[in-house]
Order: sequence, then structure tokens, then C-alpha cells
Amino acid sequence: MTDDLSAKPKGSLAGLKLNFLAPAPDAPTAPVPETPIASGSDGPVRARVVIVGSGPAGLTAAIYAARANLEPIVIGGVVGGGQLMITSEVENYPGFPDGIQGPELMDLMRKQAERFGSRIIDADVDHVDLGGRPFGLWAAGIEYRADAVIVATGAEALWLGLDSETRLRGKGVSACATCDGFFFRDKEIAVVGGGDSALEEALYLTHFASKVHLVHRRDAFRGSKIMQARAGSHPKIELHLNRTVEEILGDQHVEAIRLGKTDEAGEETLPLQGVFVAIGHRPNVAVFRDWLATDEKGYLSADGATTASNIEGVFVAGDVDDHRYRQAVTAAGEGCRAAIDAERWLEAQASLDHHAPATTEMAR
Ligand code: NAP
Repeated sequence: MTDDLSAKPKGSLAGLKLNFLAPAPDAPTAPVPETPIASGSDGPVRARVVIVGSGPAGLTAAIYAARANLEPIVIGGVVGGGQLMITSEVENYPGFPDGIQGPELMDLMRKQAERFGSRIIDADVDHVDLGGRPFGLWAAGIEYRADAVIVATGAEALWLGLDSETRLRGKGVSACATCDGFFFRDKEIAVVGGGDSALEEALYLTHFASKVHLVHRRDAFRGSKIMQARAGSHPKIELHLNRTVEEILGDQHVEAIRLGKTDEAGEETLPLQGVFVAIGHRPNVAVFRDWLATDEKGYLSADGATTASNIEGVFVAGDVDDHRYRQAVTAAGEGCRAAIDAERWLEAQASLDHHAPATTEMAR
């Protein structure tokens, strides 16, 4: 079974027309691995390296691993591409002096990974067994066995945790300005948060909305100075500092938000039609939590000098182990490091196997 696992075009992501998963129309002759990916009924799918995640870290790891002839399989998630798929303009990724849209950048990375023979599976990993080698990973009913694993599962958006937020999600409440901004043309909306995500989304949404209320719970933003300056001086953006969202009001769709005040008594209600929550991210570690070490914030821990995890042969890269930098370019850099670490580790293993006595068990 090969066709159902190969890259297929995806029509849209939450209203955004994308061609993220389409094969490159002009892709040069790729050194595609000859071994087809077997179905579950044919037994486990074997790979030298399985990469979990298809954001900048995972796809960069795939590019490097493929070019090292490791024939990587990327289990990229049902919705691949990571956080850049819900990011609008990326102005700080080197090589794009005029900026590039996040989904377009991911599309290019994917094509580059596929060009060198990476196989990308659009499925989520359900569970893993990292207790022995080859490591086991299960996704969409198929078992994969890998000599080395690179975990690049990224981080996902956080929500405020209000009942009204859950009830009105998709009815005016969103965590993705790129996906849903279009629907708020000439409407009044709020963006919640004080980091770069909130500032960036507020600025992006000015392209559509008649007015953007930027609501932040403290009196100082966490985001970069340049983004603060841009948002603060934009004629369509009104700042609401020291304000917390207590409730999102509306029956079938968002009609207003009720704000609490942290600097004075009382509340206020802003009539508006949309709320974009941009308050940060949580690392996607669920299937690895029982196996891999995490830090105090719940992110995976690498050993620092390399991308090695606490399990030999398993490497971590990107936002899933980085709550400090969390940039596309740093994630891509980590993906590169992880692929090189995996390649060197596999080489060392092969050399050990080569020199191991044939009949006696090696002392440990
Ligand atoms: P972040 O920096 O962690 O900021 C999250 C913001 O949400 C903070 O201001 C926080 O308030 C607020 N917040 C958290 N929980 C909240 C809650 N329950 N209710 C209300 N407010 C809440 O997250 P981010 O903005 O997603 O950025 C993450 C990283 O990606 C950062 O390093 C950022 O620089 C980077 N980034 C870069 C770009 C770019 O360069 N183009 C774009 C986006 C993100 P407090 O400030 O009070 O904690």
C-alpha cells in the first residue's frame, strides 16, 4: 500500500484555501525510496528514522535526513505544518526580504523534504513504545518501527477556558487570524493576549476588521518592541490594558465581550462580532509523556549540547522542547541538529554492530 500514504492535496484548513499537501508540480526526479510503505496487515513499516511532526523542525529534519540517505518517514499530523499554518506574514525568516505567508513557507519546506525522498504521512501518532529498539509508533492503525526517532511535535494554541468561549468557537471565537480573519470584514473584533502572537494577529486583522480591540490582562505587553510600536500606533487598534475577558456574550454568534478590570473596580462590555484568542501555546507531548523527560513547564528536555533525549536514539527538536525562542528559524535549526545527531548516532550503532562478536552477547 503506497498510494494512500503518499502526499495528497488538502483543500482547506478552517476556511483557508491551501494546497499545502499537494506534490510539487515541477519537482525534479526525486530519489524516492524503492521500498513501499507497507500497510498494517503487512506487518510494521520499517524505517531508519521516523520524524514525528511536520512544522519547520520536522520538515528540516526530513530534508537533512533524506539527503543523508536515511529515507525518513515523517508522521506529520492530520493537520500538518505546525503553527506557521496559522500565522500570517512571516517577516523574520531569512531569505524572504519581502516576507512570506506562513502556509506558503510550510508548503515550500514540504516540497523540499519530498524532493529528496521523505515520505510524509498525514496522520497523528496515537501511541509509542520507546522501551526498546526498534522503537514502535502507531498512527492511523499502522505500526511503524524505527531505529531512530525525532520528535518535533511543536506546541498548540491555548484557550482562555471560558464556557462561552467553547460554546462560541467557530461562531465568532477563533485562535487563527489567518484562517478566519477574512470572515470579519468591516466587523469589530477583539484580540486577547499581550505577546507577539496577539500583536501580530491584531495587526493582521486590521486588514479586514473595522476596529480591533486588543485586550491584555496586564499594563505592559510581553511582545517585541517593534510590534508594540506598530500595534500601539495603528489607527484601527484600541488598547485595553489591565482587562480580563470574563465572558463572551452571544447566542448563535459573538455579540460582545464582558471585561473585568484589574486596575479599578467595575466591568465594561464591548459590543463586537469576533474574538481571537492569542495567549500562547502548550507543547504537544501527550504520547511521549510516559517515556521522555520534561522540564518544569512540560516541554521535552534535550541534553543541551545535542538534541538527544533521555532515551538513546530518540531526539527532540523545535517548539516541543523550546519555550524560550519558539521561532520558525530556531525550530528549523533544531530540526537540522536533530537529523545530524540521529545520523551520527545511527552510524555509531552500525559501527558497534559491525564490531560486535557474532556469537557472544556484548557486555553492557
Ligand atoms: P507568549 O509570549 O507566551 O504570550 C502570551 C500572552 O498571553 C502573554 O501576554 C500572557 O499574559 C497572555 N496570557 C496567557 N494566558 C492568559 C490567560 N489565561 N488570559 C489572558 N491572557 C493570557 O505567547 P505568544 O505571543 O504566542 O508568543 C510565543 C513565542 O513566539 C514568543 O517567543 C514570541 O516572541 C514568538 N512569536 C514571534 C512572532 C514573530 O516574530 N513574528 C509571532 C508570534 C510569536 P502575561 O504577559 O501577563 O503573561
